[in-house]
Amino acid sequence: MRLSRSIAFIMASAVLAGGCVGAPAPVGSSGKLAVVATTTVFADMTASVGGDLVSVTSLVPKNADVHTFEPRPADVRTIASAKLLIMNGLGLDDWLTKTITNAAAEGTPLLKLGVDLPGVTLLPGETASTQNPHLFMDVKYVELYVDRIAAALKSADPAHAQTFDVQAAAYKRQLETLDAWVRAQIATIPEANRKLVTFHDAFPYYAREYGITIVGVAVEAPGQDPNAGYTAQLITAIKSAGVKAIFAESQFPTKLVDQLAAEANCKVVADLYDDALGDPPVDSYEGVIRWDTTQLVGALR
Ligand SMILES: [Zn+2]
Repeated sequence: MRLSRSIAFIMASAVLAGGCVGAPAPVGSSGKLAVVATTTVFADMTASVGGDLVSVTSLVPKNADVHTFEPRPADVRTIASAKLLIMNGLGLDDWLTKTITNAAAEGTPLLKLGVDLPGVTLLPGETASTQNPHLFMDVKYVELYVDRIAAALKSADPAHAQTFDVQAAAYKRQLETLDAWVRAQIATIPEANRKLVTFHDAFPYYAREYGITIVGVAVEAPGQDPNAGYTAQLITAIKSAGVKAIFAESQFPTKLVDQLAAEANCKVVADLYDDALGDPPVDSYEGVIRWDTTQLVGALR
């Protein structure tokens, strides 16, 4: 009797499983599409496109550094339950690839926002063979990110394709307004003062788009201390360019930036936001761009 009930149960399970083949449910237990992004910045962009239809989780917490992030066992479980994975690529968050393997989630759709983006000219990275991954600090490029996010959400949840299109279009209009606002703000800084020094190299695309010169960065790569020769050269460059301020970044310690500013006799502005969101008003991508631009204008004008 017991045995036959078990067999009946197994058969019923098999029928249920068979019924699911070819039509996987796109939604998690919350009834929303479970999306996992590497950073809070990409999670915010995804939430802007997905709205109430998605539940987005960021692996790297707010105010934390994506470059040196080490996934924890809980992150492996989060990835295993995702229906869509979103990363930047280009070396920013490539640790995700190994974590996907650990989560046995190779079959989950993976969107790389910054890789092979049409119409984008990449800038050099830490070494000659790498590219700078911080495309998302250029608002124009984020409009391309949004197209990719919308396409990935539509593919994962085709029933709501129209809603994703509408929400993506609304978010892109918001980004257009943001882009125009940044240009108007930067225009108020005297041209000779549009020079930027930050902790790490997160701003070259922002600088190129909005007409600012990067004089240097305190570290060539997060997690690596610069050698004395590099720092001495940077101080000389800061002095000769007449840089007015050096910018710390929220997710990194300020000690090195403080030392640079003292040596080069300029002020420190804390903090810019780039790879990670923080508390309001920098709890969204738009908030970050508005905050950073306001800091730049305040310190350089
Ligand atoms: Zn970065």
